[in-house]
Amino acid sequence: MDLELLDRRLAERAEPAFRARQVWEWTARGAASYEEMSNLPGSLRGALDAEVPFSSLALERTARSRDGTEKALFATADGRPVEAVLMRYRDGRRSLCLSSQSGCPLTCSFCATGSMRFGRNLSASEILDQALQFRRAEAVDHAVFMGMGEPLMNLDSVLAACERLPDLGIAASRTTISTVGWIPGIERLAREGPRVRLALSVHAPDEALRSELMPVNDRYRLADVLDACRAWREARRRRVYVEYLMLAGVNDRPEQARALASLLRPRHAFKVNLIPYNPTGGEYSGSGRGAIEAFRATLAERGVPATLRLTRGRDIDAACGQLAAAGRAPGFG
Ligand code: SF4
Repeated sequence: MDLELLDRRLAERAEPAFRARQVWEWTARGAASYEEMSNLPGSLRGALDAEVPFSSLALERTARSRDGTEKALFATADGRPVEAVLMRYRDGRRSLCLSSQSGCPLTCSFCATGSMRFGRNLSASEILDQALQFRRAEAVDHAVFMGMGEPLMNLDSVLAACERLPDLGIAASRTTISTVGWIPGIERLAREGPRVRLALSVHAPDEALRSELMPVNDRYRLADVLDACRAWREARRRRVYVEYLMLAGVNDRPEQARALASLLRPRHAFKVNLIPYNPTGGEYSGSGRGAIEAFRATLAERGVPATLRLTRGRDIDAACGQLAAAGRAPGFG
C-alpha cells in the first residue's frame, strides 16, 4: 500500500490522524482488504478501496519449491519487475528475502540481477508490500535484504521499511541488511544505529579477484570496507556476518581461506557464512562439498567461525543469486 498516498487521501477527507494508524495496523496484521477493517466507517472503506490500491505492487506469479520456499514476482505501478522469497525452515522460522531495487546497477559477475537492466530504487511501501504479500498468508519472523539490489544505495527507503517491519512480526534484531560494501551506507548505519544486523558480501580475500567478481571493489576497496565494518561493530556491539560465495576453482582454495582468515580481525567481530553457488547459466560453477568443508575447516583452525548456508528454493530459481525477473536468477549483495 502506498502509505504516502494513503496519508494524502485521508488528509483530503479531513479524517482524524489515527485513521492512518488503524489502516496500517490491519494491513500489518495480514488483512486482505479494506473491507476487513471493521473499525473504519463503511464509507471510508469504500473510498479507500477506490482511491488507494491495497498494494503498490501487482503480483504477477508465484512459484513454490519442493522444500517449501516460495518466490513471488511482482510489477511496480510503472512496470518494473521485483522479486521476493519466503524461506520456510524446519525449526519454524519464516524468513523473507526482500528486494530494495528493481534490477541492480552494480553488475557483480556471478549475479543474475546484476545482468538485468537497472530500473530504479524501490519506495518503502514497495519494499513493505513484498513482505505483506507473504504476511497475508502466514506469520513471518525474519527478513534479509538479499534480494534484488544493493540496499545501502537506497537506505532511506530501506530504513523506513525496517521501522515498520516489527509491526508485521519481524523485530529489527531479526532483520539483516546485506551489502557489497557501500561504505557511506555502512557509516550511516553505524551513526544512526538501527538495531538491524549487517552482512557483508566478501566473496574474495584479495583486492584484484574481488574487483573482478564485484566491480564495486574498484570504488570501495575491501580493506576500507572492512575498516568501516569494524567501526560499525564498535558502535553497534554486534558482529558482522561475512557472506562468501563458493565458486569452484575461483575463490575456494586453501590459501584463499587462510588469506580470508587473516583479514577478519578481531576474530569476535566476524562470522562467516559459506554459500553454495547456485548456477545461473553463467561462467561459474559451485564448489564441491569437499572443497567447501576444507575451506570451513581452514577458517575454523584459525579461530574464524564459519557455517554453511542451506540452499533453499534452488528448483524455482529462488536461491541466492537466482532472482532475476526474466526467469533467470537476484542478488548476493
Ligand atoms: S550481488 Fe547484489 S550488488 Fe551485486 S549485482 Fe547482484 S544484486 Fe547487485
